[in-house]
Amino acid sequence: MEKEQTTPLRKIIHIDMDAFYASIEQRDHPEYRGRPIVVGGGPEGRGGVVATASYEARKFGIRSAMPSKRAQQLCPDAIFIRPRFDAYREASRKIREIFRRYTDLIEPLSLDEAYLDVTTDKQNIGSAIEIAKLIKQAIRDELQLTASAGVSVNKFVAKIASDMQKPDGLTFIGPSAVESFMEKLPVEKFFGVGKVTADKMKRMGLFTGADLKKLSEADLVQHFGKTGRFYYRIVRGIDERPVEPHRETKSLSAEDTFPYDLTTLEEMNGELDKISQVVHERLLKYGLKGRTITLKIKYSDFRQITRNQSFPYPLNDLPTIRATAKQLLAATDPEDKKIRLLGVGLSNFHDPPPPPPGHAAQLELF
Ligand SMILES: [Mg+2]
Repeated sequence: MEKEQTTPLRKIIHIDMDAFYASIEQRDHPEYRGRPIVVGGGPEGRGGVVATASYEARKFGIRSAMPSKRAQQLCPDAIFIRPRFDAYREASRKIREIFRRYTDLIEPLSLDEAYLDVTTDKQNIGSAIEIAKLIKQAIRDELQLTASAGVSVNKFVAKIASDMQKPDGLTFIGPSAVESFMEKLPVEKFFGVGKVTADKMKRMGLFTGADLKKLSEADLVQHFGKTGRFYYRIVRGIDERPVEPHRETKSLSAEDTFPYDLTTLEEMNGELDKISQVVHERLLKYGLKGRTITLKIKYSDFRQITRNQSFPYPLNDLPTIRATAKQLLAATDPEDKKIRLLGVGLSNFHDPPPPPPGHAAQLELF
């Protein structure tokens, strides 16, 4: 028999905790069990957003990143709880210890999500499905929490699979099933396809992976830029991105390029409100607080400046992020200038764990 010259198949698991923050609150507070609870900002102010809703609250249509005020309208009985990030970080750390029994190739994506490469595992179990089962069971036994797992040959498919049978799911997409799985996948599920790109694809008659597959790589690049190259490969089940255990989160930001140049302070402040909100939501998702807030400005002539302010304590609250971004903007005399892009970022995160000898610093996520 001839041997095929291909790279050996990888075994990738994507683990995603079910309603992580809310489940921890229900575990620690029996009175919250079976109740619609919302972890995040309170509904009273203007800026509060939902970080995580319990499954009971999701039945009312409450979702992550939704304004808390809206959540309260959908479910007046919902219980609003301030996040306890110390508790979530502690659970995350214990979950990572469970992962480490099987592999050191762990890439955390946020407090409640990680990729694992178990192509070779420490206990010689061999089966990624079996390892996923053992991890789910250990999380249940030791932390009284549930996780959903996706098992496949690459990161992209494993991540989509973990979302398919939530909560407490385990979905396996084997090597021979990957291509047909990708062909059936709606375009919205593809990495990097936001609403604008999805609409554009649909106008072009592209609804699923199978439709994308009919286009050449050159066509995809022409219509969708550099990401077109990724689409070309991923619809064929090819995603060679490695699981990167030492990827570092140094800063977190959001920015927006405007369809026309902004010239009034009112417009600029309105945009900063929206961008600050996005940054705030991401900080909640990743359980991060930063000590430095940075404003980025790009002018119509593409000249770019950044301004920042540091605080003596780490923060993630929306009012401070908004107010600081606006103060930094006001200090640049923006009004007589044409601005095409604004961005807001946080960095200088607190609690970086000491890096292990010979390794880059890594956040205590999983
Ligand atoms: Mg999750």
